[in-house]
Amino acid sequence: MGWSVPDRNAIEIRGVRKVFGAGENAVVALDTVSVPIRENEFFTLLGPSGCGKTTLLRLIAGFDYPSAGEILLYGDDIAPLPPFKRPVNTVFQSYALFPHMTVAENIGFGLEMLDRPKAEVKARVAEMLKLVRMEQLANRRTSQISGGQQQRVALARALAPQPKVLLLDEPLSALDYKLRKDMQIELKRLQGETGITFIFVTHDQEEALTMSDRIAVMSAGKILQVGAPRDIYDRPAERFVADFIGESNFLKGEIAGTAGGRATVRLSSGAEIPASLPEGFSPSGAVTIVVRPEHAQLAAANGDASLSGTVENVVYLGTDTHFHLRLDDGSPFIVRRQNSRGGGEGLTQGSRARVLIGADAAQVLKD
Ligand code: ATP
Repeated sequence: MGWSVPDRNAIEIRGVRKVFGAGENAVVALDTVSVPIRENEFFTLLGPSGCGKTTLLRLIAGFDYPSAGEILLYGDDIAPLPPFKRPVNTVFQSYALFPHMTVAENIGFGLEMLDRPKAEVKARVAEMLKLVRMEQLANRRTSQISGGQQQRVALARALAPQPKVLLLDEPLSALDYKLRKDMQIELKRLQGETGITFIFVTHDQEEALTMSDRIAVMSAGKILQVGAPRDIYDRPAERFVADFIGESNFLKGEIAGTAGGRATVRLSSGAEIPASLPEGFSPSGAVTIVVRPEHAQLAAANGDASLSGTVENVVYLGTDTHFHLRLDDGSPFIVRRQNSRGGGEGLTQGSRARVLIGADAAQVLKD
């Protein structure tokens, strides 16, 4: 019989605003952001360049202060603590290693600065070298190791003082594609093994989906949606989120009825599509729904009041085939077929086709 430990918040961002400059030149980098980040979670801030991700990370680290609001660490306001007194460490995009020092010296540097006993530093460095699988290169200078290895050293150095929270600002962006994929798995492993709360910043949606327990999607200084990767992907609440993560088809229609968190949406063709509603949202009148390309299927057109259109392009991609359609109301629509499953056989450019949308495939958007 085990005890279930209730979720604790490692960090809580409460009504945080950050404005740079003043008057006409004021830039609102964060527009009243609130989010709890749980202990031991891999939490990702995802959004396009300039949306405020780095600013939020810098406020948590203590490199800058909020214009309003507060940041709590295990329930306490951390505003009075200077960066070096916060149990928080940062891994930067540029690893900022000391090139004249060895791998081991770099990893031990933070501990030496904290005046930890020599024996403790040695033991901890050995543990970290093992954790990031760099034992063989302990005595190499960091100027003589590869980019991926430097990344591991930067991580080991940041983890060595056992911070409660590790902040990672686009740490993989300098690596090539293959290495980046490997390091994504590696980072996830490190987070799991150390139990440290990771707050990871990226503009790469695939990276966010691969690694995160939860993702906060940001745009223009606001957090638009927070959820597990699957929630964010399958149930985007706003158009921006649906557009930014994965491929989306948008359809306009009217609410024909709602019940128990679900709606029936009538399209201009008369077709009625069941769709789920974002939590706490009860729309009426005109709405937009989103359908992911892999959640729709194609069939031969049969002339009834269904969703139909003309195939404009068929793109074969090995595992998948993409059918690009122009619906009868003029809107574009993509259907993705997994080739091993089949479907849509015989449809070529110019074919008339009917789009079938699964019972749980469509989602109403808030805007
Ligand atoms: P990127 O992915 O490009 O790093 P980001 O999402 O991290 O972007 P921030 O660096 O947090 O975005 O910037 C948010 C907004 O605040 C941007 O409009 C940026 O120009 C502005 N900004 C950031 N730092 C300052 C500063 N020191 N002075 C003035 N404006 C700033």
